[in-house]
Amino acid sequence: MSLKSASPTSLSDLLEDDSKAALWIMARRFWPYLRPVTGRFLWGLGLGIIAAASNGVMIIGLDLIFSLVLDGKSATLGKDIDLPLVGIINLAEIFHLDEDRQIGLMGVVLACSGIPVMMFASRFLNYLSNYCIFWVGRKVLYQVRSDLFARVMSQSLGFFNQSKAGHLIQTVFNQSAVAQVNAVTSIQILANRPLSIIFTLVVLLSKDPTFTLLSLVVFPLCVAPVLIIGRRVRKAGAREQAETGAMLVNMQEAFSGIRLVKAYSREEYETKRFNRSSGEMMKNMLKWNRAMELVSPIVESVASIGLGAGLVYAWYTDLPLEDFLVLVMALTQLYPPAKELSKVHLNLQKASLATRTVLAVLDREPDIKDAPDAVELSSVEGAIRIQNVSFHYKESDGTPLERAALENVTLNLEPGKFYALVGPSGSGKSTLFSLLLRFYDVDRGEICVDGHDIRQISQNSLRNHIGIVSQDTFLFHDSIRENIRYGRLDATDEEIIEAAKRAHAHEFICEIQGGYDAVVGDSGANLSGGQKQRLSIARSILKNAPILLLDEATSALDTESEKIIQEAIKTLSAGKTVIAIAHRLSTVLEADQILVMREGEVAARGTHQELLKSSDLYQKLYQLQFQDSDQ
Ligand code: ATP
Repeated sequence: MSLKSASPTSLSDLLEDDSKAALWIMARRFWPYLRPVTGRFLWGLGLGIIAAASNGVMIIGLDLIFSLVLDGKSATLGKDIDLPLVGIINLAEIFHLDEDRQIGLMGVVLACSGIPVMMFASRFLNYLSNYCIFWVGRKVLYQVRSDLFARVMSQSLGFFNQSKAGHLIQTVFNQSAVAQVNAVTSIQILANRPLSIIFTLVVLLSKDPTFTLLSLVVFPLCVAPVLIIGRRVRKAGAREQAETGAMLVNMQEAFSGIRLVKAYSREEYETKRFNRSSGEMMKNMLKWNRAMELVSPIVESVASIGLGAGLVYAWYTDLPLEDFLVLVMALTQLYPPAKELSKVHLNLQKASLATRTVLAVLDREPDIKDAPDAVELSSVEGAIRIQNVSFHYKESDGTPLERAALENVTLNLEPGKFYALVGPSGSGKSTLFSLLLRFYDVDRGEICVDGHDIRQISQNSLRNHIGIVSQDTFLFHDSIRENIRYGRLDATDEEIIEAAKRAHAHEFICEIQGGYDAVVGDSGANLSGGQKQRLSIARSILKNAPILLLDEATSALDTESEKIIQEAIKTLSAGKTVIAIAHRLSTVLEADQILVMREGEVAARGTHQELLKSSDLYQKLYQLQFQDSDQ
């Protein structure tokens, strides 16, 4: 099932544009992530509230200072300045007022130094609050990403067949951040900014209600355009995310398929594809940004109308300069939180879109799960019984394909024997491997290892007992040593060297500059196909699993390499139950039994000589595939 088709719980049913519901669902779903860091989160919110309150306090302070400094000559403290705080403090003493209650230079300096002190205190509280919230956001993001990655890793192969790596990377890395950053900051804004506005409003109203009402009468005008814009750019936000995904998919495919791109000289084609999605992304991002940035001019223009109205009022009522200044400063304190609040709506839309994608992955149950009473196999002999197994691959919506990949396959494989699997392309050989590894569950029948249905064995313990050497060896961009160690993570360096020796890889590793520490992919350690296969064999030797699935390389190696690899495989196979998809005569000749597959069924089985006599299909395969392959 693809990411898109995986229904993302109730968030997908969200009212298209309901930020409140989005916020609620996000809060509910991310609460488990927030719970361990609630202390710091509450600190952040609390400090934010104090910082918001400090805005009000600052205006009171400014009022006091303006009265002292600008109207100092006539100021009779505690009388003219009609604020409750002032009466209980002997301000005359503090500010060195003389007998006529006039303020001197020292007093002015002292009073004015209160401005930076108040500003610093308020902004520092703000800084602390922001840091706490940022810290919480990052912690939550870390955990969400970790869970997302683990969830993706736990999915079945079917999921990966139908998902694009670029989209998965986008979800784990990018969408999680968009969801978290927008959600956490929105909560912070929603918790603090209204308070900041309320505190400022209270001070403004207590100072001069008429001025305040006149200046703010147009305030609601800010809200309507912001809401309309928000609705219009919602699609742009969604498209931007979709195009980011397309761009990442394009990049990831072009980089990992670079050999093909180069071989077909498709650099320009890939660049055009990249530019197309990158351009679309840019267009939608600009659309979004235009809307976000429009909030400021709208709010500020509306604010200036209020300011104009306030100024007319000041002229009309002969409002003292110091009062006017305080009122204007209070007004300017009012608009930044208002601006931020207006943007919350837009940010939440983005967060809800991203959350939807994140939850689609987080909530996705893996198709293949361990049974609740799954057994852990400590040791395995290697007996495999495949009983009436049928299997269909599935469409992305989960409906089975019409054509069966395997139909009624029954096989009994004895421990320690070597089986060669042959058959035309598409006959179901690789599918059989995938089912043995339980990458998919069978539709009908059962597969047993040592008598246990593999659906009753934990996936880890099943796969720990199966080694695999495939024709396209995957090596990580890491040292040769670590690439071999991937077979058994607790292997010592000595064991790694021993495995490499038995895989006939030690000699060439020693010749490479850096030896076991050489990083695969870096200069000096670009390995040939045969060398990579030997590393893969060393990995499997280290794993030492009792069952071995071998997919022989179809591409011919030179005779010398071929011989070395065959030797290595012989060492690896000793004493194990081996099923080898065979492309070479030597393999079928050595097999205890050959299984011939045709259109998802086992058409014949026997030794080479027996099959040459009894199976037309085998004869044909022998003539086409094996006769000249190696002798
Ligand atoms: P080859 O020798 O070419 O590797 P094979 O014998 O290993 O072929 P399988 O890969 O097992 O054949 O494929 C068996 C059938 O299942 C084929 O018809 C193939 O098209 C189909 N098939 C394989 N993988 C998938 C998949 N992921 N989704 C859908 N159908 C698939």
